[in-house]
Amino acid sequence: NVDAHVVYVPINSHHFLVMALLYDITELKEIERMQMDFVGNVSHELKTPITAITGFTETLLQGAMDDKQTREEFLKIVYQESLKLTELVEDILSLARIDSKPQLNLSMLNLHAFITDILRTFKPELEKKQIEVDLQIPADCQINVDKNKLQHVVNNLIQNGIKYNKTAGKLWISGEVREKDWCLSIQDTGYGIPKDEQERIFERFYRIDTSRSRQNGGTGLGLAVVKEYVKALSGKIEVKSQVGVGSRFAVTFPLEMKDNLS
Ligand code: ADP
Repeated sequence: NVDAHVVYVPINSHHFLVMALLYDITELKEIERMQMDFVGNVSHELKTPITAITGFTETLLQGAMDDKQTREEFLKIVYQESLKLTELVEDILSLARIDSKPQLNLSMLNLHAFITDILRTFKPELEKKQIEVDLQIPADCQINVDKNKLQHVVNNLIQNGIKYNKTAGKLWISGEVREKDWCLSIQDTGYGIPKDEQERIFERFYRIDTSRSRQNGGTGLGLAVVKEYVKALSGKIEVKSQVGVGSRFAVTFPLEMKDNLS
């Protein structure tokens, strides 16, 4: 895909130097197409919960409110759809923010304490699904990182490790500081991810088996956000998975970090 510009440079009154400038616009076209796809997907995804909220409140106002059972059932749906909408907007904003400003705010933190704090917020979900967590991180792991970005990464990976796990499953979380880098892995005993989809799950809005993923209430943006944040932190993410056995997501980051990557 090539765009051309022809420039005439006068040398004297009789001669011109003719220059043809060729630009490869394949990448630009691709970015444009991806942006249009993204806007299309966003509109579609936003419309689904909004339609449900509007529809159910309308029915309530038209009289369904009089029956206690219907009222409770409809309000529960409205509440769940509002939560979905909030999650979607937060993920979209995260992606927009990172697209425009990949700046880092570095500080030292203890990995064990950091993960323990995050796990505390998942306690109700872990208990509800009876998932047992096995945490293996040495107490002295100090890392230099953008806390907020790492939090997004870990939150999303743990959330998926619960959401796509089986009831009474296990979640292994391990991490260590090595010579030049540090790593963290989150492994579940869930559905697993087919080999040919292991790369695609990082695409924006991509979901395996839509009905099951929808039932689990995801936005399809979680891993896209993870991928962008891992990149901003100069890290790497790898997935190993076996259908019916479980999945393991491992992230690796350099020990030495520089502020304000651009
Ligand atoms: P979602 O909001 O749907 O969870 P994600 O971007 O986080 O979106 O994940 C994309 C898809 O990848 C999910 O819909 C799910 O099908 C699959 N997936 C992600 N994590 C796991 C996991 N730990 N085990 C099995 N499947 C997973």
